[in-house]
Amino acid sequence: MQPLGNPAPAGEHECDVVVVGGGPGGSATAAMLAKHGHHVILIEKERYPRDKTCGDGLTPRAVVALQQLGLYEEAAGEVDGFAIQKGLRIYGGDMVWNLPWPETDRFPSYSLTSRREILDYRLAEYAQECGATIWSETKVTEPVFGADPGHCTGVMFQSPNGAGQVRANYVVAADGGSSRIAVKLGLPRDQARPMGTAVRAYYKSPRASMQYMESHLEMRAGDELLPGYGWIFPLDHGLVNVGWGLISTSPQYQKVNYRQLLDAWVNNMPESWEISTETQVGRAKSSPLPMAHNRHPHLYRGVLLVGDAGGMVSPFNGEGISYALEAGYMAAEAIDSALANGSHRALEAYPAAVRAAWGGYFRLGIYFLEAMGNKDVMRLCTQHGLPRRYVLEFVNRTMAQLINEPRPHNITDVVIGGLSRLVRAA
Ligand SMILES: Cc1cc2nc3c(=O)[nH]c(=O)nc-3n(C[C@H](O)[C@H](O)[C@H](O)COP(=O)(O)OP(=O)(O)OC[C@H]3O[C@@H](n4cnc5c(N)ncnc54)[C@H](O)[C@@H]3O)c2cc1C
Repeated sequence: MQPLGNPAPAGEHECDVVVVGGGPGGSATAAMLAKHGHHVILIEKERYPRDKTCGDGLTPRAVVALQQLGLYEEAAGEVDGFAIQKGLRIYGGDMVWNLPWPETDRFPSYSLTSRREILDYRLAEYAQECGATIWSETKVTEPVFGADPGHCTGVMFQSPNGAGQVRANYVVAADGGSSRIAVKLGLPRDQARPMGTAVRAYYKSPRASMQYMESHLEMRAGDELLPGYGWIFPLDHGLVNVGWGLISTSPQYQKVNYRQLLDAWVNNMPESWEISTETQVGRAKSSPLPMAHNRHPHLYRGVLLVGDAGGMVSPFNGEGISYALEAGYMAAEAIDSALANGSHRALEAYPAAVRAAWGGYFRLGIYFLEAMGNKDVMRLCTQHGLPRRYVLEFVNRTMAQLINEPRPHNITDVVIGGLSRLVRAA
């Protein structure tokens, strides 16, 4: 992979929209805005290709989000670096269940995996192909305001070429879970909302050729059952991504050594899997998962928060790539209207669209995590829920938000779609 983009030239610049952060959320926003014909600058502090701590899993929901952007070959898994799976395999206690991804009107019945080094490079490259300017190795340091403190008019940056400023009609913060922009705007995380922390590492394993993503529901520290889950996701080039995560509603959150538990888990796996500290490739890395809109509102002082910056990771399964891509799409639509109408008010469509799309579902996820943080509930679910296939199928569709809306097809669509509309949106 060739380096992508260039460090920003020092000095003063202008554009229609500046997007801070070149992960899935930022690249999707920049690509869509550039397609609409706007002058967009995407600023990324790292040099591409860059690594990102992730499980590298793209559920059927994320496949649709890639299609919606226009990345059809990638969404079909026809490109090197993308692997296809036909379902989710769940391990719980002594039980193993193979659950094919469901057939629905909205979602394909397959998932994908792609190392983030590859996926994020391709997304940023696509934004560039669509017409966005990419400034890599350039760190945004501050938001900038004109006479109106309620409307951000650009950002300050630092690149190897020196410091500078870019003025823009609109600013998008897609700078990840610790969003510097949001913090500088005075928008902290909502501590009442859940967080996760997860660790992952790569291993060379024959399981790279398996056709399922795997979820391991009974993670233990010694004899103690932990309210988190582990995964093994098959990748290209003989690699698997193995990791596990824990949620903030659990009493053990931040109290266990994530890497040590990962090592202990993999070293106890069946020998034929060849997943152990011996076959590990590179370092294990951990990172937080900002869930259930744990930073809001998503439009603040004129800045739109996209992806992890706005806490858009699903509390049900830790998925954040699809939500970042979808939010990027919605942000671009709202900004396009604002630019076309010459009115900031059109931006309000963005937080409203995000809330309508999954605010209710995330609220259900908050309740779900509160229940799962209790080890008695967790034990009841694994002992009595797991052995029932219809329960697992319901869980599988719910966790990946594969809900047929607005036309429900089955009981999951009716129950989850209905409840999501009834509860107060997160
Ligand atoms: C261990 C782990 C496993 C996960 N597994 C999955 C999974 O399998 N599937 C899934 O869908 N989700 C998964 N997630 C969640 C997923 O990784 C995130 O939700 C997703 O990366 C969000 O994308 P984003 O574009 O919002 O942010 P990011 O991908 O974090 O991108 C933010 C970008 O902003 C840049 N940036 C930050 N600050 C600045 C600055 N000041 N100036 C310029 N650039 C800046 C960063 O370098 C980065 O490139 C996992 C997360 C973790 C931690």
